[in-house]
Amino acid sequence: MAHSGTSRRPVPGVTCGLAPDVKKMKHRRCQIVLTLAVLTWSFTPGCRELDDPVGPPILLYAADGLEWRVMLPLIRDGKLPTFAALIEQGTCGSLATLSPTSSPIIWTSVATGKTMDKHGITGFIYRTPDKPDEVNLFTNADRKTKAVWNILTDDGRTVSVIGWWMTFPVEPVSGLMVAQTNSVDQAQTAYGENIWKGSLRKGVPGQVYPPDRQAEMIDILEQCDNELPSLTQQIFGTFSYQQSPLLQRLWENCLWAFRADATYLRIANRLVAGPERPELLAVYMGGTDVVGHRFWRYRYPNLYEHPPTGEEIEDYGRIIEGYYAYCDRSLGELLKTYGTEVTVIVCSDHGMFAINRARRYDPNDIPANVNSGGHPLAPPGVIIMAGPRVNHTPLPGPVESLSPRDIPLLCSVYDIAPTILALMDIPVGEDMDGRPVRRAIEPSWIRKHPIRTVATHDTDEWLATRPHVDRESPDKKMRLDQLRSLGYID
Ligand SMILES: [Zn+2]
Repeated sequence: MAHSGTSRRPVPGVTCGLAPDVKKMKHRRCQIVLTLAVLTWSFTPGCRELDDPVGPPILLYAADGLEWRVMLPLIRDGKLPTFAALIEQGTCGSLATLSPTSSPIIWTSVATGKTMDKHGITGFIYRTPDKPDEVNLFTNADRKTKAVWNILTDDGRTVSVIGWWMTFPVEPVSGLMVAQTNSVDQAQTAYGENIWKGSLRKGVPGQVYPPDRQAEMIDILEQCDNELPSLTQQIFGTFSYQQSPLLQRLWENCLWAFRADATYLRIANRLVAGPERPELLAVYMGGTDVVGHRFWRYRYPNLYEHPPTGEEIEDYGRIIEGYYAYCDRSLGELLKTYGTEVTVIVCSDHGMFAINRARRYDPNDIPANVNSGGHPLAPPGVIIMAGPRVNHTPLPGPVESLSPRDIPLLCSVYDIAPTILALMDIPVGEDMDGRPVRRAIEPSWIRKHPIRTVATHDTDEWLATRPHVDRESPDKKMRLDQLRSLGYID
């Protein structure tokens, strides 16, 4: 049900220029737009038609490992105002995921709406029958069905993709594609070992489409590199105590993710501020997952048989909270940069919980696997949708009082791509395993644009254009060693 935006919480720094009497005059269809206007609008005269086929832009904000049980207490304390506003105005729920909760698989399922058998990315590595002893790294070249960015591009719509899993080497899209490039170079930097997420990296071609923009993106990476110490100071404040070798390892393991996220966010902001703003922007952040893996026992010490010391908790118990707040703030800034109404989809690939609870974490004798948070058993993730074409689902009470049992299962990771297609009036592939989440879509939008289907979006011509990658790259062995050290592969 639509309702006036006047009771909604404003996002800090974002104001709505509409006078109250103007608001009253708007008809129901416009009220939907006004609801999110509190978040994002600077006033523009008139009311955009809700059935305009090229309508308000869609932002897919992907935060790896985001967990409701971390978010809800922070919302209660007013520390996640952007997420809180979106939850109040749109539709949210938990997001069923698949097993194994392996990022390459799940994020490709999110992008394709298909199971791993259909999209072809079944993990970090694969073997071939003719060389069973040899392992190969999956890349974008191994995906054998269209992702939502291919479908949109072929439909004449604009789309940009920043930092998504399995996008190296990049492929032609109608907007900008910046790969998340997995490499061993990261392990050789000061940021430490145990790296399995990628980032933009210097000196590697094929990471940006169109290719003539790669230098511009590397410049942004270098800026973020230089600003990393001040960024982490801003997010987490100052630490009071000397780091033990274990904490030094945990901290350094996170820095590369902070740097990658800052780079992706800066690129995304530049994109939406300028004339090349795409109809769909997908941006990925990995730091939420990484801080969860590394600092869970500092945030929830009571869950562990051998909890950290008081000093360690004082310094590092705030890492997860700090990063969630940064994630919220970054989303708010991005929405402000848009300066117009935006349909937002926030999603995570899975949740997270305490693991290795009986382990003794010797601060001076670092175990090979330092994780205290994890996601075996496929804990559900987060989905929050809000904006002009999204249904408003009333909450059982104030957003500050929500508990995990107030968060219903809304849909699965397979449903996100079909839902984006439905929100853009593009047919959904019948060969997709997900379906549009009807109850999250504004009913008047569906009435005017009934969900259409097509047998498949894939064509032989498209498959023939898949990017090629040299699977014998010199990086391979070290990269595989990393994955083994993490227990991801045998
Ligand atoms: Zn993870």
